[in-house]
Amino acid sequence: MIEKDPYLLTPGPLTTSLTVKQAMLRDWGSWDGDFNGMTAQVCQRLLEAAGGEQSHVCVPVQGSGTFAVEAVLGTLIAPDSHTLVLMNGAYGKRIGQILDYLDRPYLSIDKGDYEPPRGDEVAAFLSAHPEVAQVVVVHCETSSGILNPIEEIAEVCEQAGTRLIIDSMSAFGALPVSVAALPCAALVSSANKCFEGVPGFGFAIIERSLLEGAQGRCHSLSLDLYEQWRYMEKNGQWRYTPPTHVVAAFLQALKEHEAEGGVAGRLTRYTRNRNRLVAGMRELGFQTLLADEWLSPIITTFLSPGASTFDFRQFYDEIKHQGFVIYPGKLTVTDSFRIGCIGQLFDEQMDDVISAVANACKNMGLTLPVPPPVLTPDNLKSD
Ligand SMILES: *Cc1c(COP(=O)(O)O)cnc(C)c1O
Repeated sequence: MIEKDPYLLTPGPLTTSLTVKQAMLRDWGSWDGDFNGMTAQVCQRLLEAAGGEQSHVCVPVQGSGTFAVEAVLGTLIAPDSHTLVLMNGAYGKRIGQILDYLDRPYLSIDKGDYEPPRGDEVAAFLSAHPEVAQVVVVHCETSSGILNPIEEIAEVCEQAGTRLIIDSMSAFGALPVSVAALPCAALVSSANKCFEGVPGFGFAIIERSLLEGAQGRCHSLSLDLYEQWRYMEKNGQWRYTPPTHVVAAFLQALKEHEAEGGVAGRLTRYTRNRNRLVAGMRELGFQTLLADEWLSPIITTFLSPGASTFDFRQFYDEIKHQGFVIYPGKLTVTDSFRIGCIGQLFDEQMDDVISAVANACKNMGLTLPVPPPVLTPDNLKSD
C-alpha cells in the first residue's frame, strides 16, 4: 500500500485531484495533432476565464511562474521605457529584481509587508512621474496573503493613460478578473496555483495589439513571447519541447474548474476554507497579520505565539506528522507562518488542520489559547 501523501496547505505546488494526476499517465508527441489540440483548448479556456476573447491572446511558456513574469516584462517593456512597480512583499520585490537584470529603468512604491498600494497614491505618483509607461502590481501578494485592490489601481492607470501589468499568479482562477474591463495590458499566472494543475508552465494573457508590436524586443531567445505566440499561431506547436504531461494535466484541471462552477465556484470553496481556517485558528489564540478586509481566500499569515517554547521547525514537523504541510512565514519584521487554502482542500481538511495545530501546540507545551504574539498587528503598524 502506498503511504498517503500529506495535504499541501501551500500556495502551489498544491494538492491536485487524482484525475489530474491520472491525466499524466500518457505520452504525447509534441508535434502531434492531439497534443496541439489540447494546447489550443487550454489557451482558449484561459482567455475566456480572463475575459479577454475579443482583445487579448494567451501565450503559454515553459518553466515556473517567474519565467512567465520575466518573459512578459522582457517582451513588452522597451529598453528605455519607465515602469512603476508596486511592492508589498517578496513577489513585488522580485519584479524589481527582474527589471534590474533586464536593465529596464523603474521606480517603486514599497508599502512594506502588510499594507496595500492604494489608487490615490498611485494616481499622485503617476502625475508626478509622467515618464512612467507601465505599472506592475501583484494581485494577491502571496508572501503575506494580502489581496491588493487591483480595480482601483486599474482605474487610475487608465485615467493616466498608463498600461497595467498584473502578476496574478496566485489569484487567477479563484478571483474574478476581466482584462478587458479592468483594463489590463497583460496578466500573468501559472499552471500550479488556483487552477490546480501541476507545475511546469506559466502563461500570459496579453493585449493583442501590444504583443503585435513587440517583435525583436525581448532580451532572451527562449523567453520571447512574441516569437512563442507567432510560432504557435502558425504551427499550433510550442517553440521548443513543451511540458506535455503538464499540459494534459492542466486541461483536466480546467475541466474540473469548470465543473466546480468556474471562478465563482472556486472562490466560494476557497473563501469557505479561509473562513473556517481563520475562525478555528483564532479560537486557538492565533492572530492574523492582516485585518479581515485584506485577507485573501488564498493563503493566510498567522503571527507566531509569544512563547519561548514555540519553535516553527517543531511545529511544522508535528503538523506534517498529522498529514498536513504548512508554509514558513516570509515577513521581515516578525515571526510568522502561513497556511494556504487552495488546492483540493475541503471542510474536512480545514477542520483537521486546526486539530493538528492544537495537538502540535500541546506537544510543544503550550496552553490553549496560545499566548498573543510579541508583536501584534497594531504595534507593527506604529513603527
Ligand atoms: C507563485 C508566485 C509566483 C511565481 O513563483 P514560481 O516559484 O516561479 O512559480 C510569482 N508571483 C506570485 C504572486 C506567486 O504567488
